[in-house]
Amino acid sequence: MTNPHATIALHPSSCTSCMLCVRECPDWCISIEAHSEPDPDAPQYSNARRPAMKNVLDSFQIDFSHCLWCGICIEVCPFDALFWSEKDMTSGKSRSEVIYGIDELAASLPSAKRLDGSPAPLRDEPPSGRRKK
Ligand code: SF4
Ligand code: SF4
Repeated sequence: MTNPHATIALHPSSCTSCMLCVRECPDWCISIEAHSEPDPDAPQYSNARRPAMKNVLDSFQIDFSHCLWCGICIEVCPFDALFWSEKDMTSGKSRSEVIYGIDELAASLPSAKRLDGSPAPLRDEPPSGRRKK
């Protein structure tokens, strides 16, 4: 039988670098680097003093050697970017081998599910936006 909580998956283009998961993780497993750049898709206002900006994710890492599998990061993410996945990426690996970045976290999306049981988006699917409560 597969374990639906084997690891955590990230949908990179859904992540807005809001840092909520970083702040709420009880064991400081998550680290994120991001930068801001002008958002070409934002509405343009003639009286705007500066261009609208958006955060762009540069790196996202989860250190599974410290992870408690508590799921708080998944629950607090408001943008439908983190999911439980059935894909076990950590068993049999040493502590230094279980720090995963964007590509590894996205690789388990095909076996990932939302908290309501619906399938997580695949990596090339667009962001679904802010999660509805
Ligand atoms: S499952 Fe818990 S301990 Fe693991 S990264 Fe998420 S918030 Fe941190
Ligand atoms: S809470 Fe979600 S959107 Fe915010 S930084 Fe974490 S993964 Fe990205």
